[in-house]
Amino acid sequence: MKFVDEYRREEDARKLIAAIHRLVTKPWTIMEVCGGQTHTILKSGIDRLLPPEVTVVHGPGCPVCVTPLELIDKAIALARMPRIIFTSFGDMLRVPGSDGDLLSVKAQGGDVRMVYSPLDALRLAQKNPEREIVFFAVGFETTAPANAMAIWQARQMGLKNFSVLCAQVRVPPAIELILNDPHNKVQGFIAAGHVCTVMGYWEYEPIAEKYRVPIVVTGFEPLDLLQGIYMVLRALEEGRWGVENQYVRSVRREGNLQAQRLMGEVFQICDRQWRGIGLVRGGGLCLKPEFSEFDAERRFGLQGITVSESPVCIAGDILQGKKKPYDCPAFGRDCTPEHPLGAPMVSSEGACAAYYQYGRER
Ligand code: SF4
Repeated sequence: MKFVDEYRREEDARKLIAAIHRLVTKPWTIMEVCGGQTHTILKSGIDRLLPPEVTVVHGPGCPVCVTPLELIDKAIALARMPRIIFTSFGDMLRVPGSDGDLLSVKAQGGDVRMVYSPLDALRLAQKNPEREIVFFAVGFETTAPANAMAIWQARQMGLKNFSVLCAQVRVPPAIELILNDPHNKVQGFIAAGHVCTVMGYWEYEPIAEKYRVPIVVTGFEPLDLLQGIYMVLRALEEGRWGVENQYVRSVRREGNLQAQRLMGEVFQICDRQWRGIGLVRGGGLCLKPEFSEFDAERRFGLQGITVSESPVCIAGDILQGKKKPYDCPAFGRDCTPEHPLGAPMVSSEGACAAYYQYGRER
């Protein structure tokens, strides 16, 4: 198959692994930010093929994992309301809230529907004028343009029964938060290629300068990741920092300007709570005041929600690269994909799910 096989060729992978082994002279810790990259690393066994000096830790780049518990609980409260059709991507349906998940609300009779795009939710709103359609707008900069488009179109169409529960998050402030932590051990980053396809990598340059770290924008196939890891390690070994782009086939420095313009019309940067991590300054996108009529929290007055986290889940430490999933006492015992205690075991991009699926134990 063209454009996939060439990024999985074993012979090229062996060459890159050998080059990494020749390059590394001392211990380094690097983080891949995106959960999709975590899955590729574990699925293809890259973590086991690197020199023992190299530690790869996993970052907060799983949108399902970082959606705050309060918003999950609000989603559940909305889905229980009789007039509402609550729509969401499939991954969110099984994320545990304080008391159950969206799928259990559906089982109890709530109208919860899985959609593949916010535009599907928009169509539902057109077809069901007597119902209120709420879309769970979750995700990083990758989903923000499509979500912005849906909200923008809803206004153009004059739809009065469509709104979003907004949980959009932004990657660069999270990287900065990790680097600001006095216990941080991460020395270099693999940045998520798809986020940079939208946003470019200009936002990463001041971070790389300020904290003197190498950041390499990287794709998602095994050879992309091996090459990205090689580029980070080479910069570290040479004492260099700055941003490099491994994913040149998709990413330009300025990103997709049209998508950024659309996002800027509908959203504005705001502070946001990240599940397990806490408040990330500038870490979210919220609806601009002129689009506030599409804000489900405002429309349905969801005050007075009190949240209760699982006391055993250490997702926050995992999402910041401080611990690995197998450090969690519940991993693979009380917490499995069938009975998840935390979001990283549910999501297709979650680190705990990846460790479970690909059999990584201490
Ligand atoms: S294994 Fe389960 S309980 Fe432990 S950190 Fe992962 S999601 Fe949380």
